[in-house]
Amino acid sequence: MARIGITTTIPQEIILASGSVPVDLNNIFVSSENRESFLARAFRDGYPRTVCPWIAGIYGTILETGSVDLLIAVTQGDCSNTHALAETVEDIGFKVLPFAFPYDKNPELLRAEMEQLAQKLGARWENILKWFEKLRNVRSLCSRIDELTWRENRATGFENHFWLVSSSDFWGDAGAYEKGISRAIADIEARKALREKIRLGYIGVPPIFPDIYDDVEKMGARVVFNETQRQFSLPYPKNDFVSAYSKYTYPKSVFTRIDDIKREIARRNIHGILHYTQSFCFRQIEDLLFRRHLEIPILTIEGESSFEMDERTRVRLEAFIRMLEDRI
Ligand code: SF4
Repeated sequence: MARIGITTTIPQEIILASGSVPVDLNNIFVSSENRESFLARAFRDGYPRTVCPWIAGIYGTILETGSVDLLIAVTQGDCSNTHALAETVEDIGFKVLPFAFPYDKNPELLRAEMEQLAQKLGARWENILKWFEKLRNVRSLCSRIDELTWRENRATGFENHFWLVSSSDFWGDAGAYEKGISRAIADIEARKALREKIRLGYIGVPPIFPDIYDDVEKMGARVVFNETQRQFSLPYPKNDFVSAYSKYTYPKSVFTRIDDIKREIARRNIHGILHYTQSFCFRQIEDLLFRRHLEIPILTIEGESSFEMDERTRVRLEAFIRMLEDRI
């Protein structure tokens, strides 16, 4: 079975229906004990120091681990750095297939793009739809984790992040993921409710330092909404294959994301937002739009290439949480 690398959530059902395995390279990179060496490989090969560490890290992961046979590069709706990433791996002999999310959510254009990818991978449409149905149950377990986080207050922010961020490829083994998440749900359901006073929303790309969640909880708050990670889990259970992916907000305009975030702030009774940005990422510009359109305190956090949260960020985070405590 070919292992197909992805750099963000794409319709993984197409990969599965082709008999291949999806591999989210972000998750392999950030969870590897060799992640520093993956970054070093990129810089040694000439990647500029000013490039986002996710891009450099994925490049290094592809080359150092040999974990994928080909790469699907999202050429619209993700990150322009992915273009250069794809070019640099293509130059050394890697096969790269493009996939573009239409900016305007147009389901016909999206379907045409899906069909093109399916044709290139040799996946039949009816098998793709069968995979979508098979994954419905797994995705409903993601929604259960999310409910256990914000509605029942039993799951931690990290548990929410971990299970939802992994839904981009379900570990390349949906059966193993389903067993793992079912066990986690049983454990969490048996717990008493958590009692943090401050409820936070986390928006932006997933953090390069996931220890942020535990630190937030040590400070008396809890993340009850992970925007992008939740989107990876495709939280649209009533939709069919194409329309569920056309609702998926991450590759769309920031205004689509803002609408989703506003809805979740109200539904989850969120007191403040952590906007995580990555150094040298174009998405940092969007911070001004979140500040303009979200009527709630926002703390912008910038991750660089360290995999642990730095002291300056910890101090700012603590001051933000104390400020929110004074307001409620
Ligand atoms: S953090 Fe920003 S620059 Fe880095 S890969 Fe993601 S979108 Fe691209």
